[in-house]
Amino acid sequence: MYKSPNVFWRCKIDVVKHDGRVAVVWDWKTGKHKVEEDQLFLSAQAVFAHMPTVQLVAASFIWLNEPPESAVTTMMYHRKDMAPLWAEMMPRINKMRAAYEKEEFPPTPSGLCVRYCGVTSCIYHGKGSR
Ligand code: SF4
Repeated sequence: MYKSPNVFWRCKIDVVKHDGRVAVVWDWKTGKHKVEEDQLFLSAQAVFAHMPTVQLVAASFIWLNEPPESAVTTMMYHRKDMAPLWAEMMPRINKMRAAYEKEEFPPTPSGLCVRYCGVTSCIYHGKGSR
């Protein structure tokens, strides 16, 4: 099922523990301390989809290179709140889908352009202040 070509999204979760009603989701992180809430949201959604009795998910990034006081970032998700959160997310997903279908990916200059991006054909490559 994971490798099926007919999926909306794929999700890998490092650890899930649950008691039937509440679940905790942990994702080990070794890179930069960058909170991607969409990933936590999608992990929670995967738990809700696979475990119909779970009503609350505490989804956490565990930052392995951070000191204990900043080693955990947690977002709480209630099943009843998932539909409105999806409604907020869908416009961004639809925009990405439209870009994929039209193969239109306009450049979005950022701090990556100067040194970190590998797209040398882009007009912004190597430009900027960082
Ligand atoms: S150089 Fe890379 S990061 Fe910058 S706009 Fe172009 S593609 Fe995006």
